[in-house]
Amino acid sequence: MAFTSTERAFIDLCQKNVFIPQDTLDEFERRLTAEGNRDTFRYVFEDFDLDTCPKCGAAGAYKLGFLGRLNHPGCGLWYMNTGRYAGHQFSSSVRTGMDIAAEDAADAERKGKKQGCIAGAAYFVFGTLFRLIWAAVLTLIQLVVWLIAKTSESRGRAEKT
Ligand SMILES: [Zn+2]
Repeated sequence: MAFTSTERAFIDLCQKNVFIPQDTLDEFERRLTAEGNRDTFRYVFEDFDLDTCPKCGAAGAYKLGFLGRLNHPGCGLWYMNTGRYAGHQFSSSVRTGMDIAAEDAADAERKGKKQGCIAGAAYFVFGTLFRLIWAAVLTLIQLVVWLIAKTSESRGRAEKT
């Protein structure tokens, strides 16, 4: 599948940046929708989260770091809200389940067999469950890290005043 120049430019932008301003984002969404490639927009978006920089208030898409760490170059790092982090983990769990089920279907096809409905569902459920356990562990760690970051932030503020 060949990418259009807009898709390539957008993917490139997402790979090279940790922050994409809202107006750049809107522009790409408009152009990709116009050429019928809005799916690309969503696909690349899986690694980003819409947020506002707590320091300067710049709105846009921030690349998700480990444990939901976000970074606005020049302003610094912060952690995304645990509820949203859990949501991200959950949707990526479902995606993993789908990937595993799809992989098995492709495998069955290569061997000239058809994947049974039950097998597909089982792969999906187990793949998702397995990833969900991992997601729960990560979310707990993230909550702790987020709380520590919050506490030290308010302590820092208290010391300054
Ligand atoms: Zn900022």
